[in-house]
Amino acid sequence: MHRDIAKVLIYKETIAARVAEMARQITADHSQPGEPDLGEVTIVPILTGAMILCADLIRHIPIEMKIGLLTVSSYPGSALQSRGSQLLGQQLGDIRGRHVLLLDDILDSGGTLKLVVPILKDLGAASVKTAVLLRKDRPAAKEVPVDYVGFEIPDEFVVGYGLDYNNYYRNLPDICVLTPEAIERKR
Ligand code: 5GP
Ligand code: MG
Repeated sequence: MHRDIAKVLIYKETIAARVAEMARQITADHSQPGEPDLGEVTIVPILTGAMILCADLIRHIPIEMKIGLLTVSSYPGSALQSRGSQLLGQQLGDIRGRHVLLLDDILDSGGTLKLVVPILKDLGAASVKTAVLLRKDRPAAKEVPVDYVGFEIPDEFVVGYGLDYNNYYRNLPDICVLTPEAIERKR
């Protein structure tokens, strides 16, 4: 697998430190007067990409919470560009009146958040906040409001830490760019 990596953009140690920092910020923000009572929060990772972020983040947030799941596809198969976001499934439980914190691996065109946030509000969420590990350096990504951003990255296709290419590479611990040969081979 390692011969497929052209370069590492963010090492696992750096990711771990930043995720812990984001969790501290989220915990502090939800402890402010007037902010949602901590027990009312539902954390919703957008699967499959955000599963590792969710697993790491929530273990640093020492508050009562529920977890809901949403599956969205925007880079089906070996696509390297968004084909438009599609809701594939949900296991949200009852989110009426709850404060939802939506987690995604990466903010690219913004199509995913634009699709999902209104759905959560329609289902009765009292509020919806958003957190992404990565935000690409492109105008479309900057136009979408997001409450927490882990890292700003260049506009390149990345894998690792939950992000895939054709459903491979999610288990790489670092955020990486693939070689053109790997992209060809795994297509
Ligand atoms: P958006 O809807 O903002 O265009 O993109 C969000 C979704 O597209 C992410 O949840 C992720 O699944 C996918 N995506 C966007 N950029 C990348 C990328 O560089 N690498 C991978 N593996 N997935 C990406
Ligand atoms: Mg995704």
